[in-house]
Amino acid sequence: MNLGSTDCCSRRGFLKSSVSCAGYLLALASLGPATFRSAFASSERERMFVQDWGWIEKLAEGVWSHISTPFEQSDYTTVCNGGIIAGSRRVLAVESFQRPRGAAWLAECAKKLTGRWPTDFVVTHFHGDHVSGSSGYLESGQKPTMWLTKTTRDLIAEGEDRREVKSLTSEVSLLADEVTDLDLGGRVVKLSATRGHTDSDVAIEVVDPNVVFAGDLVWNRLVPNYRDADPVALKQAVASLARESDTIYVPGHGVTASLKEFRLYQEFLDTMEDAARRAHGRGDSWEAAAKAYRLSGKFEDWFVFADSVMPAIFRAWYSALDGDTQPGG
Ligand SMILES: [Zn+2]
Repeated sequence: MNLGSTDCCSRRGFLKSSVSCAGYLLALASLGPATFRSAFASSERERMFVQDWGWIEKLAEGVWSHISTPFEQSDYTTVCNGGIIAGSRRVLAVESFQRPRGAAWLAECAKKLTGRWPTDFVVTHFHGDHVSGSSGYLESGQKPTMWLTKTTRDLIAEGEDRREVKSLTSEVSLLADEVTDLDLGGRVVKLSATRGHTDSDVAIEVVDPNVVFAGDLVWNRLVPNYRDADPVALKQAVASLARESDTIYVPGHGVTASLKEFRLYQEFLDTMEDAARRAHGRGDSWEAAAKAYRLSGKFEDWFVFADSVMPAIFRAWYSALDGDTQPGG
């Protein structure tokens, strides 16, 4: 996949770049490595199947996460996080990653861990680093079922590079704004269709133990990509993932998060909203507001991928605020 030549400003325009997450992440290659290391340094779980692009962690019996580290060695095989959820009859893989090799590798890990290749895989949204590697799940003649929303399917089809997902495998459309129960055999996984990071996002929830694969609705210690985000919907979607009891969150990017880290991420979203509302109220342009903004306090060491990260947040909030029917609301 030729990420380097993708022009995010053509045709579909800035808001709908099909590679926006990956584009942000790849921009990291030009930045110093020190900051992102702090974002990935704290994982306490044992790392399995360690590769240049990341590793697998066991979260619970039959549940594993993949934590992607594309920046360590500029390896973009997976780029986003994902996971493996096993039942007695089916094995669900989460995300299909940047490259087919990434999906094939996760499937090989599933085979080693569970004794079987994934029978199903779910992609959380249309961004290239989450979906471009889908064909990797077809290696060895396997044909797992793909789960995604119709909106995500349409956004993939409209993407700059028209990634070849269609007809590769059987697929199931998730209903918008609804929860779909997927019975893996002795374990039911909830696939919740929502929106916020993009026009269509899916969160995957395992109950007992409580594990949430949040896609890019949640990031851990990395400033999230708002390029395609609706910041109001994002906050609502994230709030819907909040749990009272202890829960493990697998973010789209960054290390596996505790409930405490999830709440810190919510606080980050609130902090950015507050900063944008104040700047908007003063009459500052979003460009100037983003330029002047500095991360501080508990967010001081959060990793900013590229110069475009902060402007995207302020621009998204200004767009939302300018569309408000209630002034100052
Ligand atoms: Zn994304």
